[in-house]
Amino acid sequence: MPETFKELGLDFPLFEAPVEEASGYIGEETCDICGNTTQHAFDTMEENVCYTCLRSRKASITKDTEFGMVGREEAERGRSHGIPGLTTDMFPVVPTDDPEWQAAVIPSKHLWELVSTPSYSTWQGDRWLFCCARPMVYLGPWTREDFQKAAPDGDAYKEAADMVSSDEVSYWKGQFPDGLSFYVFRCATCDKRRAHCDID
Ligand SMILES: [Zn+2]
Ligand SMILES: [Zn+2]
Repeated sequence: MPETFKELGLDFPLFEAPVEEASGYIGEETCDICGNTTQHAFDTMEENVCYTCLRSRKASITKDTEFGMVGREEAERGRSHGIPGLTTDMFPVVPTDDPEWQAAVIPSKHLWELVSTPSYSTWQGDRWLFCCARPMVYLGPWTREDFQKAAPDGDAYKEAADMVSSDEVSYWKGQFPDGLSFYVFRCATCDKRRAHCDID
């Protein structure tokens, strides 16, 4: 059984995780936009769509990101919906209609690529990460063993701590947090890895 979208013949540059990690992948279904029955359909939460319609911007899959929500409207406009108190060096930050919220100005083509990509399964919700001023590539959920393998010295704790925000690490008390789920991304530009985590 194919494990990745690439093996299914579907090109999603931002999604390298196993197909089973894609939350809206529904397999064979009729597309609500073009009416064709397709082997590989996606539930966008609004409609069922085929790969071709999804990739040609006839449909979109809304994402949560570290800079706030991004859907079709945000992709068109080239900025995130924003979050309260947003600060970042990666993109210009602009005010929104809500005085507490700031949005990130991100090139439209990058946001379109993001909303033309499947979402991934989590316990608490997705949070797409960015690096080098682009959305990162999702690799999937990692266990302690995955971090161990990736670490040059086999230190899973250090490897995981380097990938998440320092606020998160302050809760760990020097131990690898086995109860957490880690969602790992890599940067297609500089190959750096970043992760966010949650708990069921
Ligand atoms: Zn279609
Ligand atoms: Zn990078």
